[in-house]
Amino acid sequence: MALRTRFFLTLVENDEGAILAGTDGDGIYVIEEDRIKKIGRDNGLTSDVVMRIVKDEKRDIAWIVTSNSIEYMKNGLVTNVTSFPYNNNYDMYFDNSDNAWILSSYGVYVVNADDMEDDAITDFKIYTIANGLPYAITSNSFGYKDQDGNLYMAGRNGVAKVNINKYYDGTLEVLMDVKSIYCDNQKIEQDENEVYQIPASDGRVQISASVMDYSMMNPDVRLYLEGGPDDGIITQRSKLSALEYTGLPYGNYKLHVQILSAGGREVLQEDVFNIRKAPRLLELVVVRLILLILVASIAGFIVWQVMRLTVIKTQYEEIKKSKEEAENANTAKSRFLANISHEIRTPINTIMGMNEMIMREDPTSVPKGYFMSVMNYAFDIRNAAESLLGLINDLLDISKIESGKMHLVEREYDTQELLRSIVSMIRIRATEKALSFDVVIDEILPKRMYGDAEKIKQVVLNLLTNAVKYTAVGGFSLNVSMEERNDREAVIRISVKDTGIGIKKEDMDKLFTAYERLDEEQNSGIQGTGLGLDISRKFAELMGGTIFCDSVYGEGSEFIFIISQKIVDATSIGIFIEHDESKAGGPYVPKFIAPDADILVVDDNPMNLSVIKGLLKATKVFVTTSESGADAIDKIKDGDFDVVLLDHMMPGLDGVETLAKIREIKPDIPVYALTANSVSGEEYYKSKGFNGYLAKPVDIETLETTIMKHIPENKMEKSESVDATEELTELPKDMLWIYDVKDISVPEGIKNSGGISSYLFGLDLFFETIDENSRVLNNAYDEGNIRLFTIKVHALKSSARIIGALGLEEFAAKMEEAGNNNDRVYIDSYKDNLMKEYASYKEKLGRIKEANVSDSSKEMIPEDELKDAYGALTDLIPQMDYDSVEMILESISKYSLPDKDAEFFKELGRLFKLFDWDGMEALINTSK
Ligand code: ADP
Repeated sequence: MALRTRFFLTLVENDEGAILAGTDGDGIYVIEEDRIKKIGRDNGLTSDVVMRIVKDEKRDIAWIVTSNSIEYMKNGLVTNVTSFPYNNNYDMYFDNSDNAWILSSYGVYVVNADDMEDDAITDFKIYTIANGLPYAITSNSFGYKDQDGNLYMAGRNGVAKVNINKYYDGTLEVLMDVKSIYCDNQKIEQDENEVYQIPASDGRVQISASVMDYSMMNPDVRLYLEGGPDDGIITQRSKLSALEYTGLPYGNYKLHVQILSAGGREVLQEDVFNIRKAPRLLELVVVRLILLILVASIAGFIVWQVMRLTVIKTQYEEIKKSKEEAENANTAKSRFLANISHEIRTPINTIMGMNEMIMREDPTSVPKGYFMSVMNYAFDIRNAAESLLGLINDLLDISKIESGKMHLVEREYDTQELLRSIVSMIRIRATEKALSFDVVIDEILPKRMYGDAEKIKQVVLNLLTNAVKYTAVGGFSLNVSMEERNDREAVIRISVKDTGIGIKKEDMDKLFTAYERLDEEQNSGIQGTGLGLDISRKFAELMGGTIFCDSVYGEGSEFIFIISQKIVDATSIGIFIEHDESKAGGPYVPKFIAPDADILVVDDNPMNLSVIKGLLKATKVFVTTSESGADAIDKIKDGDFDVVLLDHMMPGLDGVETLAKIREIKPDIPVYALTANSVSGEEYYKSKGFNGYLAKPVDIETLETTIMKHIPENKMEKSESVDATEELTELPKDMLWIYDVKDISVPEGIKNSGGISSYLFGLDLFFETIDENSRVLNNAYDEGNIRLFTIKVHALKSSARIIGALGLEEFAAKMEEAGNNNDRVYIDSYKDNLMKEYASYKEKLGRIKEANVSDSSKEMIPEDELKDAYGALTDLIPQMDYDSVEMILESISKYSLPDKDAEFFKELGRLFKLFDWDGMEALINTSK
């Protein structure tokens, strides 16, 4: 029989000597000596495509691998192994353990050969790509097994090898190595010592291992760094990835590559490689230590600071709170002292005003001896009253000392005058108590000195008052001598010695301590506060002097006060005269006369303006007035003033705001605040940029001294006592009725106005402005503008004081306080009463009108004179020449005028009193 087959795939000899030829499509040809027998699908085989025939000597069978079955031939018979699990098989090999390894398209099956023969396969193994086979087996290609048991399999991507005899005893020969180490993408090579040296870096380190396995197994591999930050990777060899670290710490590491047994219990094979990572600077122990110390120190410092600040803050808060409490208490005290001193000052002012009237009495019709003694008493009263006022001011000083606000107020003073004012005050008390009072004053004391005379006076007065108080019999003495002197300074020693009760030795220490009164039992009847000597000592120290005491208990004491003063006029004072009679009587002599000097006075209250004008009349300075801050600024821009006096409390821009603007235009112009609030004091106004302040009611001497300082020498004229002033000495007869007005104190008014002429002017102005002011007050109140209302009430207070309307002044003061405290209840309850009281002055002062009404007995004005007056006014009003306009109005008032002109001058007079220059100009222009 001829062989028909297209292609023999496999040949094998069976034990009977026949050759079995497997074909790709014809089944098997059994070739025996002389005959060929075909076995195919028709006679036993399941497939005609025979892939492989394998001789199995042990069982004496030939295994046939067909394209869809495993069969075997034994004794000429073909048996299909139906229990074989797969049917696209290619090849078959046997290992030493009698297992058949069947290569298939799915993988490699390992089946017990006996089980196959018996067609009873229940257990088998299959190795695929998933669990060990490196490549898929190529279809229809044969494997090869050498005599050592190595099975080579044709795979799709290469040859896979497995030793099928040794496969189960675990002796694998897998090649392992480090594939690559990268640090920051830079490849690291092994050095000569076979160490991988990774440089210092913070970046990424990638370590890959290669596990080269030509077997079909895919063992579990463990890759880890000994000393590294983690446990590494355990995975199948085929899935092995790189170890990756970022910021791997420096140090020596060992890279372990391990092949693990199935289940990972055993390490079957291991290779170890050395890796070293260099330290970064920051990783060095020393550097770390230093950094640690640094960080610890900084942390410690921060904690310490926070704690310190917390402690300090707490303490600061506490101190601040206490300070605020103390300040509040102190403010309350200052306010109380200010109020009480005001209460006391008012009656003293009355006494002084009356006394002033006595001193201005005309001596001509009185016997000289009588007049002189009256004058002496009057001077004693004045000195005593002044001292008393001084003491009241010192009461304010106590609070100033305690709050550290006490400062020296130094100026020139007349030594005799100072001592005289002290002695006169004490003389009265000595006489009252029938004590001798010896005054020994060194004749060689300098005539004028420079220092804080008020404080010296207070210290000496206190020592003398104590001498009077603590001496029952005998007397005391004042001894003032000059201890030393040079060209500039004199050291003055003031001793007050008494024959009083004396001071116990043990009490000496407490003598100059505040609130300490000694020997209470014996002194129980004597009034005192225990403050006097403490203030005296503090004043003495403030002036750079000392004060001490020498005493024998029961016999008497001597207090010695030593102080150095600058000499202004070194001429000696000569014999001390207690009563200076040369001072009695005579017209007021101003300190200076300066007709060319220009002064600007700014106050919203025209009455205050008129008082200042009145006070300065004798000095002949040219006074320009302004009723608002804004207007004052304009005037200062255009004018050239020597001094500006600026009211603090004004509607619109107040004094402080106005000053700020003035300073922008003229930084150096001397500006003084006019204020009723003397408690704020010099320091406050200086801090706001003022050169100083003048307390209302303005004292003529202070006003003159203040202004004088700023008037240039070339504008000064010597003040001549005789023609210095044309001040009226008494009220005109047609005004005497004013004494009968119940609510007006004429002496107080005259004093507050600065003279009789100013007083008359003020009365007139007060009367004229009642309607207009009432309207403004009512409007402010109705509109709820409490600030304006308060400012206007403040103005009313000043005006009332200027005319001596003390009741109205007090009422307005209370309303002002309510306004400042925004006390709507008080304002609402009393506003109408105040307005009624204010309006009542229209009637009380009604007779002013009569005085102003043209008198029929007056001579009719000559036509020429009237014409001249109109002409002069046309020139003078635009120049705001106050004095000349006043003079013309005065001269016109002596005549009777035609009705039309009378009306014109009445209106002009009204506008003049209001300083309404624009109004006056408009009026004179319409009259042309
Ligand atoms: P006071 O208002 O009590 O007089 P001072 O501070 O002036 O307060 O004096 C303190 C105390 O010193 C007095 O209370 C008195 O006991 C004592 N003292 C002061 N001056 C004399 C003196 N000339 N003779 C005796 N004791 C005096």
